[in-house]
Amino acid sequence: MDLNNIRNFVIIAHIDHGKSTLADRFLEVTGTVAARLMKPQYLDQLELERERGITIKMAPVRMTYAGTILNLIDTPGHSDFGYEVSRALTAVEGGILLVDATQGIQAQTLANYESAKRADLYLIGAVNKIDVASLEQVEATVKELAELLGSSESEIVKVSGKTGEGVKELLVTVMRRVPPPKRRGGSWSRGLVFDSIYDEHKGIIAFLRVFDGEFKTFAEAEFMATGVRFKMKEIGYFSPAMKAGESLGSGEIGYIATGIKDPDKLKIGDTVIATDDLRVAASKCEPFPGYQEPNPVVFVSFYPEDPAEYDTLRQALGHLRLNDASLRFESDMSEILGRGFKGGFLGRLHFEITADRLEREFKVRTVHSFPSVAYQIKIKNNGWITITNPKDFPADPAEVLEPIVRTEILTPPQYLGPVIQLKELFRFSHMEVKTVGAKTLVTAKLPLADLVSDLDDKLKSVSEGFASLSYEPMGWERGEVVKMDILVAEQIVPGLTRILPHVELEREARRTVEKLKELLPRVQFTQAIQAAVNGKIIARETIPAMRKDVTDYLYGGDRTRKMKLWKKQQRGKKRLKALGVKSQVKIPASIFKELLKR
Ligand code: GDP
Ligand code: MG
Repeated sequence: MDLNNIRNFVIIAHIDHGKSTLADRFLEVTGTVAARLMKPQYLDQLELERERGITIKMAPVRMTYAGTILNLIDTPGHSDFGYEVSRALTAVEGGILLVDATQGIQAQTLANYESAKRADLYLIGAVNKIDVASLEQVEATVKELAELLGSSESEIVKVSGKTGEGVKELLVTVMRRVPPPKRRGGSWSRGLVFDSIYDEHKGIIAFLRVFDGEFKTFAEAEFMATGVRFKMKEIGYFSPAMKAGESLGSGEIGYIATGIKDPDKLKIGDTVIATDDLRVAASKCEPFPGYQEPNPVVFVSFYPEDPAEYDTLRQALGHLRLNDASLRFESDMSEILGRGFKGGFLGRLHFEITADRLEREFKVRTVHSFPSVAYQIKIKNNGWITITNPKDFPADPAEVLEPIVRTEILTPPQYLGPVIQLKELFRFSHMEVKTVGAKTLVTAKLPLADLVSDLDDKLKSVSEGFASLSYEPMGWERGEVVKMDILVAEQIVPGLTRILPHVELEREARRTVEKLKELLPRVQFTQAIQAAVNGKIIARETIPAMRKDVTDYLYGGDRTRKMKLWKKQQRGKKRLKALGVKSQVKIPASIFKELLKR
């Protein structure tokens, strides 16, 4: 294959700016998907993506246009899936930076632009949704985008993913301006694994960008990091479904099926080599640097709803990790929910999506704990510890440090007031406001815990969806936080313990006890529901005992007999209490689920 006839590119943009819809038009124009099979956001293949209307996974597809092979990778826009985007960037030479003309540049536009620059990609600016935007909006966005890219306004392409206007022109621009792939040299065949998926029959399927040489079906290959050798059972490309071919050559993007069943044998970002003499090649061939492991910031424990499904859950997580390289987990144990796993996630949405995928793709229903961030805690006279599970928070810490992020909120000026008012709900500090083009940029420090509570949702609602957010970690700071336990019938309920900032303590304590009162079934005795900090009760509700009328079967007015029966019932209840029947308060898994809902 002549490298000059290949172009590899991504579409990157803020969420909802129209990446997947533009990809639909490319699929049509190039005849990759037949018109009768076309459906909106075709590349969003996961059921979950279709239902939520967002892209979670990068999606590669090979198209042909005017004799050129075009390998496109569609990417997600939400910041929790930034690791997907960054991996896609390493597999291509160029990208389309797409901006919705009705919204202008948004927070993820800037973040994506920065990552693409770091990956040294050639970027083409495109302004989308010109069918609905006003002329002024289109012109303003073209200007903004040209400024960001340091290009002239005439180089920005105007398109509509909806009507198809400008789409062919954009494709031709990609062919003209994105550089063709280059060989890196060396006598070996070498490729980068940028993603993978597990298949019952074919085992691990590695998504590959080939840089040098050629990979052929049935030849031998090796994952360099794990040293695992295998025979390539099938090689092919994405059309966008996997389509078997015979080989993948330099500059191409496709997949290889390895037959390997153990998910731990592949590390995403690993280098695959294949030659006739693996030993010679492996000793000389430099592996690619791989990917910097993303840092999980939100920690949640998962338990199978049915404890008998523990092994199924473990296997599911292993297989899911092949398709979600940012997923981290280790085993965990809860007194109430049994054996499970503690997972590390890149954000709250990432965690919600993971729970959802486990249920849909792997048919395991899970119950989980409240999401928590990590804390560094100084124990009196005893150094520092890091905890990620609220139950490990000590009673009397000398000092607590919590993770802090720097947030950037980009908003149209008319929503600046309500955005700044979010200070009342979230612990923003060092807030600074400046003008960036037609927008206002608010930068501020914020504890990560506040960010993951529900800043995203609140920001969207106060700005009618127009403000957008990005953030980056900026170390640790002293946190004014405490541990809140929840007690039912005087017993601490493991799994409901949380670390909360002082400012949220009262509100959350009330909310939780009230919600529990609503959800918990009545039992034979009165149950107190309490929120406590260091043993001190800060909120309380009571669930009255279930009244079982023991005198039901008596007719008429024999008062003394009734009294007798009631007395007997009282004695029975007392005895139950004395026997410690209280300790058997069972919190059904379904109540955990309800309580954790936002
Ligand atoms: P993504 O998150 O960037 O992949 O965005 P999608 O492709 O999922 O599109 C987000 C929303 O914008 C969907 O409701 C699309 O129908 C709509 N959309 C995308 N492109 C256009 C366009 O050119 N014109 C109009 N009017 N709507 C568009
Ligand atoms: Mg999309």
